[in-house]
Amino acid sequence: MRALVFLDLDDTLFQSHRKCPSTDGLQPVAYLRDGTSHSFMTAKQQALWRLLEGNATLIPTTARDLDSLRRVDLPFRSWSIVAYGGIILTPDGQPDQPWLERMRKVSEGTIDELNLLRGAAEDMIEREALAIRMRIVGDFDLPFYLVAKYTDGQEADLDHLQRELLQPLTEARGERFRLHRNGNNLAVLPRTLGKEHAVRYLSERLRQEWGELITFGVGDSLIDGAFMAECDYALTPRGSQLFAQTLGKPLL
Ligand SMILES: [Mg+2]
Repeated sequence: MRALVFLDLDDTLFQSHRKCPSTDGLQPVAYLRDGTSHSFMTAKQQALWRLLEGNATLIPTTARDLDSLRRVDLPFRSWSIVAYGGIILTPDGQPDQPWLERMRKVSEGTIDELNLLRGAAEDMIEREALAIRMRIVGDFDLPFYLVAKYTDGQEADLDHLQRELLQPLTEARGERFRLHRNGNNLAVLPRTLGKEHAVRYLSERLRQEWGELITFGVGDSLIDGAFMAECDYALTPRGSQLFAQTLGKPLL
């Protein structure tokens, strides 16, 4: 039976230098556009990679777009899920066409409201001089979701924007949008966009091609729980946001 691993990348397989528990044995694996190494695998993450890579087909399942996935120096050889599930790439790096058509409709149906939310947030950032960068992330000319990050260490600014503006605006649109926050990553996502939708679609498609599969979901964020729940088994790093909210909680 073929084994498939749907693998989140950032903060699961590697992380920025600041988040590494120590500097011993770090391997640089992801780079900024200017070529600077930005993210690193610890010795255990390198061992995890070898274990998975040697025994299964790995499918990166990431919020990164294709450009930033290409700046990850790891030999992925099969399908990829990028842009939070907005795009599925075939093993030769081309977007899967039926999925692209489905997500084109999703993008067209949500962009006006995303722009409205972005406008409201930009007004607040300017009015209150908050240290926040914000953009709408997409790929293959399809905009998908809104992301905000603090700059200059001003985490409280992002907390403020979340609490006072994006959380209430998202809750008021709860049937259509959801809010995700993990550290310096605040995202507003259409509910029709999600790694879990892409994992379900691709598992089904590959089952038809390859026969019965055993699937594993690996991720660190609460929001990853949804795609991990599509898989037969789920794996999360100890100490991750998802771990803290599930396995790491004392039993009542
Ligand atoms: Mg992650």
